Amino acid sequence: MSGTEAAAEPGPARPDGPSLVWLRDDLRLGDNPALTAAVERGRPITLLYLLDEVSPGIRPLGGASRWWLHQSLVSLAADAAALGGRLVLRRGAAEAMIGELVEELGAGAVFWNRRYGAAERELDTRIKTSLTDAGVVAHSFAGSLLFEPWTIRTGGGTPYTVFTPFWRACTSGPPPRAPYPAPAELSDADPDLDSDDLPSWELEPSRPDWAGGLREAWTPGESAAQELLADFLDESLPTYGTERDLPAQQVTSRLSPYLRWGQISPHQIWHTTDVARRGLTGAAATSATRFLTEVGWREFAHHVLFHAPDLATVNLRPGFDAFPWPPLDVRALAAWQQGRTGIRLVDAGMRELWRTGTMHNRVRMVTASFLIKNLLIDWRLGEQWFWDTLVDADQASNPFNWQWVAGSGADAAPYFRVFNPELQATKFDPHNEYVRQYVPEWGTDAYPAPIVDLGETRRAALAAYEQVKSAR
Ligand code: FAD
Repeated sequence: MSGTEAAAEPGPARPDGPSLVWLRDDLRLGDNPALTAAVERGRPITLLYLLDEVSPGIRPLGGASRWWLHQSLVSLAADAAALGGRLVLRRGAAEAMIGELVEELGAGAVFWNRRYGAAERELDTRIKTSLTDAGVVAHSFAGSLLFEPWTIRTGGGTPYTVFTPFWRACTSGPPPRAPYPAPAELSDADPDLDSDDLPSWELEPSRPDWAGGLREAWTPGESAAQELLADFLDESLPTYGTERDLPAQQVTSRLSPYLRWGQISPHQIWHTTDVARRGLTGAAATSATRFLTEVGWREFAHHVLFHAPDLATVNLRPGFDAFPWPPLDVRALAAWQQGRTGIRLVDAGMRELWRTGTMHNRVRMVTASFLIKNLLIDWRLGEQWFWDTLVDADQASNPFNWQWVAGSGADAAPYFRVFNPELQATKFDPHNEYVRQYVPEWGTDAYPAPIVDLGETRRAALAAYEQVKSAR
């Protein structure tokens, strides 16, 4: 077990001081390299979650993410307590707060797993430098991605911009390391150390409490993630390849928010799926490979974020800056957000999102395409809405996919793709099962007429795209 950044520090100032494990996007005890390193160090451990809403450049969490975080911290605290450990909660600017805590605790070492956004990396580097200067051991580990972004390069040494060769490069090397076991027990470094009262953070909505649908749909936490994976592998893996695009079927894993918050690691998913794959043949084995390839898209999104930190705001293809967005139609945006566009699959998806904090992947593509290409609303506004409402809202995957649908992103199709949402509904929800689940009034007089003409708006989008083409 070793951190990456070589420590050219003098000898540790407090070799016997306890270890601080700073948890961030890795809210789990199993396969947690930072925690494993702390256990191996052999000193008492304090687990910390720090709510940092003030450090510059850190994107504030959306509403659904805040709800998820609250439940996750409750679950993690219980899991830690069951092993004899304690989760300490603090709020504030990470740089100052970590220094303070290290002093309060007399800590000799701080361990964490890496994050990949630019502001997060800069912050972590500053903290690592000041800890090291103070003689405190500081190590970071690879806990959230199978392949560290800087290790995957083209033959020419540049980052990959297209998924297929990227994933081929990832999968042609040695397989990802095996997951680490959860510690058998934890010892709390300092039971008297102050910890914030979680409700005081007000992560859950209260006035109004809009989270009822989220509570029905989800159980955040590490053991729930493991159960979901086991059920998925038992019941759905063999048909995943053929049914993953059908929103009424519910065959996908639903693991994305757990991956986002690190309640399951991609290594755990990789190795457990790989074992399951060995027992499969033919289409079922292909299905398992397909599932791991989807996990590969998550890797690719982080790889792209690492090399393009402004992914949520800046077009990856600069030529797309010439796209002539018309003045914002706020009523059209509101109709899209509320699932009142008169386009059945779009409305079903947007209502699923609002009610449950998630939306099936196929429908995410259709709703995003409709916003951008039929309503001619800038993809960044759609990205922001998803950021606020998705429980899996992810700094890499969300803007990456929005840019992919817009055509401004990595791996953009050589043509301007405009989904026809009615044809998509006929193809992927042929009996309107999904549509009726979320739009029960569809097909009655109560259902609104389409707010735009699909053919006309498609032609307008193609005409607008001509300006991007001529700007290249
Ligand atoms: P499964 O089909 O079971 O896939 C397994 C895992 O692979 C997922 O949990 C996810 O981690 C990963 N994955 C699958 N597809 C993708 C993809 N296209 N890009 C990146 N990772 C993928 N995913 C997020 O995790 N967070 C987001 O904020 C997010 N925003 C999106 C926005 C748009 C406009 C679109 C089109 C897609 C977005 N996705 C996002 C990707 C995808 O829709 C979800 O990961 C998927 O629906 C989650 O369901 P699942 O866990 O059942 O997926």
